[in-house]
Amino acid sequence: VKRSKSAKDTRIIAIINQKGGVGKSTTAVNLAAALGEQGRKTLIVDFDPQGNSTSGFGIEKEDLDHCIYDALLNDVPAESLVLDTNCKKVFVIPATIQLAGAEIELVSAIARETRLKDLLEPIQDEFDFIFIDCPPSLGLLTINALTAADSVLIPIQCEYYALEGVTKLLESMKMVKSRLNKGLDTYGVLMTMYDSRTSLSNQVVEEVQSYFGDKAFKTLIPRTVKISEAPSFGEPVITYAPQNKGAKAYMNLAKEVIKRA
Ligand code: ADP
Repeated sequence: VKRSKSAKDTRIIAIINQKGGVGKSTTAVNLAAALGEQGRKTLIVDFDPQGNSTSGFGIEKEDLDHCIYDALLNDVPAESLVLDTNCKKVFVIPATIQLAGAEIELVSAIARETRLKDLLEPIQDEFDFIFIDCPPSLGLLTINALTAADSVLIPIQCEYYALEGVTKLLESMKMVKSRLNKGLDTYGVLMTMYDSRTSLSNQVVEEVQSYFGDKAFKTLIPRTVKISEAPSFGEPVITYAPQNKGAKAYMNLAKEVIKRA
Protein backbone atom coordinates (compact mmCIF):
# COMPACT_ATOMS: atom_id res chain seq x y z
CA VAL A 1 0.00 0.00 0.00
CA LYS A 2 1.50 3.29 -1.05
CA ARG A 3 1.04 6.28 1.17
CA SER A 4 0.15 9.41 -0.71
CA LYS A 5 2.55 11.90 0.81
CA SER A 6 0.55 14.70 2.33
CA ALA A 7 1.45 18.19 1.13
CA LYS A 8 1.64 19.37 4.69
CA ASP A 9 3.74 16.54 6.05
CA THR A 10 1.32 15.64 8.77
CA ARG A 11 2.83 13.20 11.25
CA ILE A 12 0.55 10.28 11.96
CA ILE A 13 1.78 8.50 15.06
CA ALA A 14 0.31 5.38 16.65
CA ILE A 15 0.70 5.28 20.43
CA ILE A 16 1.10 1.60 20.94
CA ASN A 17 1.87 -1.07 23.52
CA GLN A 18 -0.27 -4.17 23.87
CA LYS A 19 0.09 -3.95 27.65
CA GLY A 20 -2.67 -2.01 29.36
CA GLY A 21 -1.99 0.68 31.92
CA VAL A 22 1.41 1.80 30.61
CA GLY A 23 0.33 5.39 29.89
CA LYS A 24 -0.91 5.31 26.29
CA SER A 25 -4.05 7.39 26.82
CA THR A 26 -2.35 9.66 29.33
CA THR A 27 0.36 10.32 26.77
CA ALA A 28 -2.11 10.85 23.91
CA VAL A 29 -4.09 13.42 25.90
CA ASN A 30 -1.17 15.28 27.45
CA LEU A 31 1.18 15.23 24.49
CA ALA A 32 -1.63 16.53 22.28
CA ALA A 33 -2.45 19.27 24.79
CA ALA A 34 1.24 20.21 25.01
CA LEU A 35 1.62 20.32 21.23
CA GLY A 36 -1.53 22.46 21.02
CA GLU A 37 -0.03 24.88 23.54
CA GLN A 38 3.04 25.02 21.32
CA GLY A 39 0.97 25.97 18.29
CA ARG A 40 0.62 22.58 16.60
CA LYS A 41 -2.85 21.59 15.51
CA THR A 42 -3.33 18.06 16.77
CA LEU A 43 -5.95 15.33 16.37
CA ILE A 44 -6.32 12.31 18.63
CA VAL A 45 -8.04 9.32 17.12
CA ASP A 46 -9.31 7.39 20.11
CA PHE A 47 -8.94 3.81 18.97
CA ASP A 48 -9.34 2.11 22.35
CA PRO A 49 -12.89 0.96 23.21
CA GLN A 50 -12.28 2.12 26.78
CA GLY A 51 -12.40 5.67 25.41
CA ASN A 52 -10.01 7.12 28.01
CA SER A 53 -8.57 9.74 25.71
CA THR A 54 -12.13 10.82 24.90
CA SER A 55 -13.18 11.19 28.53
CA GLY A 56 -9.77 12.71 29.32
CA PHE A 57 -11.03 15.92 27.70
CA GLY A 58 -14.30 15.85 29.59
CA ILE A 59 -16.27 14.53 26.62
CA GLU A 60 -19.24 12.53 27.89
CA LYS A 61 -19.25 9.28 25.95
CA GLU A 62 -22.89 8.58 26.88
CA ASP A 63 -23.97 11.72 25.01
CA LEU A 64 -22.32 10.79 21.71
CA ASP A 65 -24.38 9.57 18.76
CA HIS A 66 -21.35 8.53 16.73
CA CYS A 67 -17.78 7.44 17.31
CA ILE A 68 -14.83 6.16 15.32
CA TYR A 69 -16.69 2.84 14.95
CA ASP A 70 -19.16 4.50 12.56
CA ALA A 71 -16.36 5.68 10.29
CA LEU A 72 -14.69 2.27 10.34
CA LEU A 73 -17.75 0.16 9.68
CA ASN A 74 -20.67 2.40 8.67
CA ASP A 75 -18.97 4.75 6.18
CA VAL A 76 -19.70 7.86 8.24
CA PRO A 77 -17.14 10.49 7.06
CA ALA A 78 -14.38 11.07 9.61
CA GLU A 79 -14.81 14.82 9.19
CA SER A 80 -18.22 14.67 10.84
CA LEU A 81 -16.75 12.90 13.89
CA VAL A 82 -14.07 15.44 14.77
CA LEU A 83 -14.82 17.17 18.10
CA ASP A 84 -13.20 20.30 19.43
CA THR A 85 -11.83 20.14 22.99
CA ASN A 86 -11.27 22.59 25.82
CA CYS A 87 -7.58 22.66 24.86
CA LYS A 88 -6.04 24.99 22.31
CA LYS A 89 -5.72 23.43 18.84
CA VAL A 90 -6.63 19.94 20.05
CA PHE A 91 -9.35 17.83 18.42
CA VAL A 92 -10.61 14.31 19.08
CA ILE A 93 -12.36 11.61 17.12
CA PRO A 94 -13.99 9.84 20.06
CA ALA A 95 -14.34 6.16 20.89
CA THR A 96 -17.10 4.51 22.85
CA ILE A 97 -17.53 0.93 23.97
CA GLN A 98 -19.21 0.30 20.61
CA LEU A 99 -15.70 0.11 19.15
CA ALA A 100 -15.16 -3.18 21.00
CA GLY A 101 -17.36 -4.87 18.39
CA ALA A 102 -15.18 -3.67 15.54
CA GLU A 103 -12.42 -6.14 16.35
CA ILE A 104 -14.70 -9.01 15.29
CA GLU A 105 -16.75 -7.20 12.64
CA LEU A 106 -13.61 -6.17 10.78
CA VAL A 107 -12.58 -9.81 10.28
CA SER A 108 -15.03 -10.28 7.42
CA ALA A 109 -14.90 -6.71 6.10
CA ILE A 110 -13.42 -5.70 2.74
CA ALA A 111 -10.09 -3.81 3.01
CA ARG A 112 -10.10 -4.61 6.68
CA GLU A 113 -6.52 -3.54 7.38
CA THR A 114 -6.63 -0.19 5.56
CA ARG A 115 -9.92 1.21 6.78
CA LEU A 116 -8.44 3.66 9.27
CA LYS A 117 -5.83 4.83 6.76
CA ASP A 118 -8.55 5.36 4.13
CA LEU A 119 -10.86 7.28 6.43
CA LEU A 120 -8.11 9.60 7.66
CA GLU A 121 -6.86 10.52 4.21
CA PRO A 122 -9.47 13.23 3.47
CA ILE A 123 -8.82 15.06 6.76
CA GLN A 124 -5.17 14.48 7.61
CA ASP A 125 -3.82 17.61 5.91
CA GLU A 126 -5.78 19.72 8.40
CA PHE A 127 -3.44 18.73 11.21
CA ASP A 128 0.24 18.91 12.14
CA PHE A 129 0.04 15.78 14.28
CA ILE A 130 -2.42 12.91 14.45
CA PHE A 131 -2.11 10.44 17.33
CA ILE A 132 -3.87 7.11 17.29
CA ASP A 133 -4.46 5.86 20.84
CA CYS A 134 -4.31 2.08 20.35
CA PRO A 135 -6.13 -0.63 22.31
CA PRO A 136 -4.10 -3.01 24.51
CA SER A 137 -3.92 -5.84 21.98
CA LEU A 138 -2.31 -6.68 18.67
CA GLY A 139 -5.60 -7.39 16.88
CA LEU A 140 -7.14 -5.84 13.78
CA LEU A 141 -7.69 -2.42 15.34
CA THR A 142 -3.98 -2.18 16.09
CA ILE A 143 -3.09 -3.49 12.62
CA ASN A 144 -5.28 -0.69 11.22
CA ALA A 145 -3.41 1.82 13.36
CA LEU A 146 -0.02 0.51 12.21
CA THR A 147 -1.17 0.67 8.60
CA ALA A 148 -2.49 4.24 8.91
CA ALA A 149 0.50 5.59 10.83
CA ASP A 150 3.87 6.65 9.53
CA SER A 151 5.48 5.89 12.87
CA VAL A 152 4.87 4.60 16.36
CA LEU A 153 5.43 6.03 19.82
CA ILE A 154 5.90 3.26 22.38
CA PRO A 155 5.23 4.16 26.03
CA ILE A 156 7.04 1.89 28.46
CA GLN A 157 6.15 1.90 32.12
CA CYS A 158 9.09 1.99 34.52
CA GLU A 159 8.04 -1.24 36.23
CA TYR A 160 9.08 -4.86 36.57
CA TYR A 161 9.12 -6.64 33.20
CA ALA A 162 9.05 -3.28 31.43
CA LEU A 163 10.34 -4.73 28.16
CA GLU A 164 8.22 -7.86 28.33
CA GLY A 165 6.09 -8.04 25.20
CA VAL A 166 8.17 -5.54 23.28
CA THR A 167 9.59 -8.26 21.01
CA LYS A 168 6.06 -9.30 20.11
CA LEU A 169 5.17 -5.70 19.36
CA LEU A 170 8.22 -5.24 17.13
CA GLU A 171 7.28 -8.46 15.31
CA SER A 172 3.81 -7.09 14.57
CA MET A 173 5.37 -3.90 13.29
CA LYS A 174 7.70 -5.88 11.05
CA MET A 175 4.80 -7.86 9.63
CA VAL A 176 2.82 -4.70 8.85
CA LYS A 177 5.93 -3.12 7.38
CA SER A 178 6.53 -5.93 4.95
CA ARG A 179 2.91 -6.36 3.84
CA LEU A 180 1.00 -3.12 4.33
CA ASN A 181 3.10 -0.09 5.21
CA LYS A 182 6.73 -0.09 4.08
CA GLY A 183 7.53 3.31 5.57
CA LEU A 184 6.49 2.46 9.14
CA ASP A 185 9.12 3.72 11.55
CA THR A 186 9.66 4.16 15.30
CA TYR A 187 9.14 7.80 16.25
CA GLY A 188 10.25 7.30 19.81
CA VAL A 189 10.12 5.27 23.00
CA LEU A 190 8.79 7.02 26.08
CA MET A 191 9.42 5.99 29.65
CA THR A 192 6.39 6.67 31.83
CA MET A 193 5.63 6.65 35.56
CA TYR A 194 9.28 7.21 36.34
CA ASP A 195 10.20 7.48 40.00
CA SER A 196 13.73 8.80 40.45
CA ARG A 197 13.88 7.48 44.03
CA THR A 198 13.67 3.84 43.05
CA SER A 199 16.56 1.90 41.61
CA LEU A 200 14.02 -0.10 39.62
CA SER A 201 12.98 2.98 37.63
CA ASN A 202 16.60 3.83 36.93
CA GLN A 203 17.30 0.26 35.91
CA VAL A 204 14.44 0.38 33.41
CA VAL A 205 15.76 3.63 31.97
CA GLU A 206 19.17 2.04 31.43
CA GLU A 207 17.64 -1.05 29.87
CA VAL A 208 15.41 0.91 27.51
CA GLN A 209 18.24 3.22 26.49
CA SER A 210 20.55 0.34 25.71
CA TYR A 211 17.81 -1.51 23.78
CA PHE A 212 16.45 1.45 21.78
CA GLY A 213 19.42 3.86 21.71
CA ASP A 214 18.55 7.24 20.19
CA LYS A 215 14.92 6.23 19.78
CA ALA A 216 14.40 6.63 23.53
CA PHE A 217 13.14 10.12 24.34
CA LYS A 218 15.37 12.09 26.72
CA THR A 219 12.27 13.29 28.57
CA LEU A 220 11.10 10.91 31.29
CA ILE A 221 7.50 11.20 32.45
CA PRO A 222 7.44 11.14 36.27
CA ARG A 223 4.73 9.44 38.26
CA THR A 224 2.65 12.23 39.81
CA VAL A 225 -0.68 12.34 41.60
CA LYS A 226 -1.86 15.30 39.49
CA ILE A 227 -1.43 13.29 36.26
CA SER A 228 -3.59 10.51 37.64
CA GLU A 229 -6.32 12.78 39.02
CA ALA A 230 -6.59 15.15 36.04
CA PRO A 231 -8.85 12.78 33.99
CA SER A 232 -11.51 12.84 36.71
CA PHE A 233 -11.72 16.60 36.11
CA GLY A 234 -11.96 16.05 32.35
CA GLU A 235 -8.72 17.87 31.68
CA PRO A 236 -5.15 17.08 30.71
CA VAL A 237 -2.63 17.82 33.46
CA ILE A 238 -1.27 20.50 31.10
CA THR A 239 -4.26 22.71 31.90
CA TYR A 240 -5.33 21.16 35.22
CA ALA A 241 -1.96 21.71 36.93
CA PRO A 242 0.44 23.44 34.54
CA GLN A 243 3.10 23.81 37.25
CA ASN A 244 3.10 20.11 38.07
CA LYS A 245 6.32 18.38 37.10
CA GLY A 246 4.31 15.89 35.04
CA ALA A 247 2.81 18.75 33.03
CA LYS A 248 6.28 20.21 32.51
CA ALA A 249 7.60 16.84 31.39
CA TYR A 250 4.87 16.53 28.74
CA MET A 251 5.67 20.09 27.58
CA ASN A 252 9.32 19.04 27.20
CA LEU A 253 8.29 15.87 25.42
CA ALA A 254 6.31 17.99 22.94
CA LYS A 255 9.48 19.94 22.18
CA GLU A 256 11.37 16.73 21.49
CA VAL A 257 8.51 15.47 19.34
CA ILE A 258 8.51 18.68 17.30
CA LYS A 259 12.27 18.49 16.88
CA ARG A 260 12.04 14.94 15.54
CA ALA A 261 9.40 15.97 12.99
P1 ADP B 1 -3.08 2.85 28.97
O1 ADP B 1 -3.72 3.84 28.04
O2 ADP B 1 -1.75 2.34 28.46
O3 ADP B 1 -3.99 1.75 29.40
P2 ADP B 1 -3.31 4.97 30.92
O4 ADP B 1 -2.76 6.16 30.25
O5 ADP B 1 -4.80 4.84 30.96
O6 ADP B 1 -2.67 3.65 30.30
O7 ADP B 1 -2.70 4.93 32.39
C1 ADP B 1 -3.06 3.89 33.31
C2 ADP B 1 -3.29 4.51 34.69
O8 ADP B 1 -2.10 5.08 35.17
C3 ADP B 1 -4.31 5.61 34.67
O9 ADP B 1 -5.08 5.54 35.83
C4 ADP B 1 -3.48 6.89 34.64
O10 ADP B 1 -4.13 7.98 35.24
C5 ADP B 1 -2.27 6.46 35.43
N1 ADP B 1 -1.06 7.16 34.98
C6 ADP B 1 -0.53 7.21 33.73
N2 ADP B 1 0.60 7.92 33.68
C7 ADP B 1 0.82 8.36 34.96
C8 ADP B 1 1.84 9.16 35.60
N3 ADP B 1 2.89 9.63 34.91
N4 ADP B 1 1.72 9.39 36.92
C9 ADP B 1 0.69 8.89 37.64
N5 ADP B 1 -0.28 8.15 37.12
C10 ADP B 1 -0.23 7.86 35.80
